Amino acid sequence: MAHTQLSLKELQEWDATDSLARVREEFSLPEDTIYLDGNSLGALPNRVQQRVSEVTNVQWGQDLIRSWNTHAWVDLPQRVGQKIAPLLGASSAPDQVVCCDSISVNVFKLLAAAMTYHQNKNNDSQRIHIVSSQDNFPTDLYIAQGLQELLGNKRCQFVDVPEDELMNTLDDTTAVLMVTQVNFRTGRKLDIPALTQQAHKCGALILVDLAHSAGVLPLKLDEWKVDMAVGCTYKNLNGGPGAPAFLYVNQRLHSKLQQPIAGWFGHVAPFQMDPTYVADAGIKKFLAGTPSIISMAAADAALEIYDNIDMTIIRNKSIHLTTLFHKLMEQTGLSQTLQLISPTDATERGSQLSYAFEYAYELCQALIARNVIADFRAPNYIRFGLAPLYLRYQDVWHAVHHILDVIESQDYKDPQWAQRHAVT
Ligand SMILES: *Cc1c(COP(=O)(O)O)cnc(C)c1O
Repeated sequence: MAHTQLSLKELQEWDATDSLARVREEFSLPEDTIYLDGNSLGALPNRVQQRVSEVTNVQWGQDLIRSWNTHAWVDLPQRVGQKIAPLLGASSAPDQVVCCDSISVNVFKLLAAAMTYHQNKNNDSQRIHIVSSQDNFPTDLYIAQGLQELLGNKRCQFVDVPEDELMNTLDDTTAVLMVTQVNFRTGRKLDIPALTQQAHKCGALILVDLAHSAGVLPLKLDEWKVDMAVGCTYKNLNGGPGAPAFLYVNQRLHSKLQQPIAGWFGHVAPFQMDPTYVADAGIKKFLAGTPSIISMAAADAALEIYDNIDMTIIRNKSIHLTTLFHKLMEQTGLSQTLQLISPTDATERGSQLSYAFEYAYELCQALIARNVIADFRAPNYIRFGLAPLYLRYQDVWHAVHHILDVIESQDYKDPQWAQRHAVT
């Protein structure tokens, strides 16, 4: 279809017939900004503003500590987990998902639980390897390295290999395979059902990080027989900066996994103030301490947006958005200058596109100055997240034309864009 030139007018027509167009109204977005970073920090839903104001003014301000009961703060982690479950394909058994902590902490809890699972089960001293890909998200890699330090080389060794070698690395020494479904740099999507099957064939468990999947990809954790998963609510789920993460543990493992941070919220009866820890039997055992009520309530409200939307419609729009973006990059000749490092087949990637460019950092800063917000990932990638809930096809057209303008005018060479900030 290289000969058909897409016009802005045509894309405005696509927007007019987009069944998700009305969902954009749910968000409070600045007029003049094209936001291509919803995969890093989702936009602010209007209902979150209302909920946070109610939680602070009424629940906290007026009802004070009574709210733990009267507004059921005490089981908010489980209720938010129940709202996330259908987005993960995790509803075939109740209470397999809970909202808590950060991804980093949840990865630690679940990796440690996986290591002791094998030791308790078979006293299998051979099964000591945590296997992951070298370009997994740094925090996941750091947590595995830290666990190796903590447990010692005899009990735990971290093995990292290129993504394409994961399958062949698994064997009877693998305790747990830890993968992120959508690579944060390239947007490449791994085959989770196949990896799960292979891990199980080798007697290993699998832990899947859904940071760039939850809210944009249809997931079937139960059907794929995934053992454990983690993800965050502040990216595509729009829960707000630092909103708590979630974890999934398949019900068949609840009685078999021991959670290492044995805090009172994981106790079977926290308010009996029993001096001895007795873990809850269900998903609650994966909690540690007091939940962050304000930001968890924000995530809870944000999740309501998904109530009546089919994930396949979201995925279809996501595929159209990334396909359109790259087609416009080709149409304008920009794909000669910026090299696509994401898979060219839209079905093999998540809802983002990444391009390698020597001046990626400067380009990103020049775009931000024009209110086109993307992000930079070291060493030289610019990443565009395309959020299907609130991005319009016409926004993609404008974004690409802003990129064209910055490249053609050589604005990216202006020294002011080279100054590095703490957060890129
Ligand atoms: C964003 C992201 C994280 C973030 O972890 P936190 O502990 O919540 O800060 C972890 N893993 C992946 C793959 C991510 O993309």
